[in-house]
Amino acid sequence: MSDLNFTQQAVAIVPAQPALRRSRQAQVRWGDRVVTIGGDAPVRVQSMTNTDTVDVIGTAIQIKELAIAGSELVRITVNTPEAAEAVPHIREQLDRMGIDVPLVGDFHYNGHRLLTEFPAMAQALSKYRINPGNVGKGDKKDRQFAQMIEAAIKYDNVVRIGVNWGSLDQELLAQMMDDNAHREQPWSAQQVMYQALVQSALSSADYARELGMNPDNIIISCKVSGVQDLISVYRALSQRCDYALHLGLTEAGMGTKGTVASAAALSVLLQEGIGDTIRVSLTPQPGESRTQEVVVALEILQSLGLRAFNPSVTACPGCGRTTSTTFQELAKQIDDFLREQMPVWRAKYPGVENMKVAVMGCIVNGPGESKHADIGISLPGTGEAPAAPVFIDGEKALTLRGEGIAVEFQQLVENYIEKRFGLNSASQVA
Ligand code: SF4
Repeated sequence: MSDLNFTQQAVAIVPAQPALRRSRQAQVRWGDRVVTIGGDAPVRVQSMTNTDTVDVIGTAIQIKELAIAGSELVRITVNTPEAAEAVPHIREQLDRMGIDVPLVGDFHYNGHRLLTEFPAMAQALSKYRINPGNVGKGDKKDRQFAQMIEAAIKYDNVVRIGVNWGSLDQELLAQMMDDNAHREQPWSAQQVMYQALVQSALSSADYARELGMNPDNIIISCKVSGVQDLISVYRALSQRCDYALHLGLTEAGMGTKGTVASAAALSVLLQEGIGDTIRVSLTPQPGESRTQEVVVALEILQSLGLRAFNPSVTACPGCGRTTSTTFQELAKQIDDFLREQMPVWRAKYPGVENMKVAVMGCIVNGPGESKHADIGISLPGTGEAPAAPVFIDGEKALTLRGEGIAVEFQQLVENYIEKRFGLNSASQVA
């Protein structure tokens, strides 16, 4: 017997839910498209191109890919006069292709000049990202920041005041370190750095408001690359302001590391109701599509139950009971099939993004998990009879056998979608 003193009484288990943080709501517009950020809007997904902005066609194509993958805003680098000149042409290309995703301009060092000298660029963008650490030094800083805010006000655009610890305002940090040294009980250098990030963002937002910026049109971010650092900074930020917050782990890294670190950091904060828009800053692996960062962002939101984008496929990990790769192949095939179809299905089958499909490897958990899904298949494990029962809406519907199981199951999934989510289906009629 354990001598731990756990209560034997049943305790009601409350279903976990993300907390609610009501922030101000910004509206980012292009034409008839309005993307609301904050307030009661769903958490939005953003991404950023890695093409040379001067390459109008290449950049427009990548923006289109990111938008089709699910990015609701796309940020582009605006770093030179040539890039600034290209922006309205990129916008025209996108409009011609029927892509109305709003564009965000990313400015550092010379944004004040570019936004003043290239009005067509300032107008073609829907949001400006301003990094207070890279606006200018000394007495130029306020003047140059003001020029960017004036452009935002003139074109009725939203701004993100985006602090990044790699480019934190060094004058502010030095001042805060100095002040800290005179404290009776000085904070650690890490705590001062956290405060400096938050202070830089909020004092810049205060100044933007003094200049006449509508506070609803201000979004704040304070990005760092450590998971625990990000959690600490955003908790503080969310307590100190009611601006909509853009959330992201900066320089998350590549592949599994970048994906896991982003998911870990963002999930904790989103569960606490912190974050109105997210970006996953993945370094693409050689040959990997830029859209991977959007795929990961969507998965994070969908896994937390905050939004639904694609039907979900539940697949078991496999074990010693599965000596063939059949179920892995089927799970991948179904997952790929559902994702490929979604751009068309989204309009054709409203609600299909909430569907759950199960592909399981043997009788141990297969039938049970398949019954919890809308449609599921339990493949035969090693030594089991070569039969795969299919469950639809919790009931065993039929059993598939033989070589064509994969094709037949895919067809069953398609039929189910048409029947359940098609415009003439009973659920849509009702
Ligand atoms: S369902 Fe079967 S094959 Fe899959 S992990 Fe569980 S025991 Fe292994």
